[in-house]
Amino acid sequence: MGSAAASKLRPVGRLAPSPTGRLHVGHARTFLLAWWHARSRGGRIVLRLEDLDTTRVKPGSVESTLADLTWLGLDWDGEVLLQSADTLAMESACAGLLASGQAYPCVCTRGEIRALSAPHAGEEEPRYPGTCRGRFRSLEEARAATGRDPALRLRVADGPVRIEDGFAAARDFDVAGDVGDFVLRRRDGAFAYQLAVAVDDARQGVNEVLRGDDLYSSAARQWHVQEHLGLPHPRWWHVPLVLDGTGERLAKRRDSLSLESLRLSGADPRALVAWAARSAHLPCWPRATPQELLGGFDLARLPREPVRFTDQDAAALAAAR
Ligand code: GLU
Repeated sequence: MGSAAASKLRPVGRLAPSPTGRLHVGHARTFLLAWWHARSRGGRIVLRLEDLDTTRVKPGSVESTLADLTWLGLDWDGEVLLQSADTLAMESACAGLLASGQAYPCVCTRGEIRALSAPHAGEEEPRYPGTCRGRFRSLEEARAATGRDPALRLRVADGPVRIEDGFAAARDFDVAGDVGDFVLRRRDGAFAYQLAVAVDDARQGVNEVLRGDDLYSSAARQWHVQEHLGLPHPRWWHVPLVLDGTGERLAKRRDSLSLESLRLSGADPRALVAWAARSAHLPCWPRATPQELLGGFDLARLPREPVRFTDQDAAALAAAR
């Protein structure tokens, strides 16, 4: 649900890469669209590095991500927020939700949950059946009773939520039915993505989120977190991803298409910016900086289908010096 009030505010968009591998041309396109979308309307744009999942963060990725974004010609307002450097707001959000009974400790392992529930189509995680709902009054009690470190789960209200989107069609999500009470803080103490995004978007004053449409269903979970915490809902724009020539999603593993390898090989980033603009049906010329294309930006021209980045596109970029 986009908030009507948000549309009257000065736009504040964000770039929120995870330093879990090398950025590729798909990330570049989505970040360019987010940057153009905010900047072309006089908005601010903030940068947040989502490095909370320490099991997935790759050494050197923070530095290479910053270097890639700068190489591409993007800039941002204010300090870069390294998510792991300041988790106090997440800590107090969890404490508040626990104290008010909106969240509860859960000692179930992944294996136990999998054994209890069949995975739903399209969801990587099985639905949580609510085993620990109402079982423990506190984290300490859960720990003492089971000898396990508890996770924290949000008590999700029943019923569908309609998420309005500035680009994609509105969709109804039944989070309680599809996912169940989801994790806010993992058993190893790490704050979950869904909580961290809601807390940090609010903290950074973000009122507009443009990102890949693989995260559309996450918007519904973030909507629930925002409701529980009394945070405003941003407006969402979920845009199609970039696929390779065979129709597969570009993966961070595919180093040949990484921004880092293009950057280090001396490729001209303006050729990549121009490719992204062409793929978005924006007026452009063979090489351009993001800034030079601001005036012609119009999200309404963006194709609704995923974009193909073919081997010929890759070769042309690598050859652009
Ligand atoms: N950090 C997430 C990613 O790189 C994006 C999060 C978001 O845009 O909400 O996939």
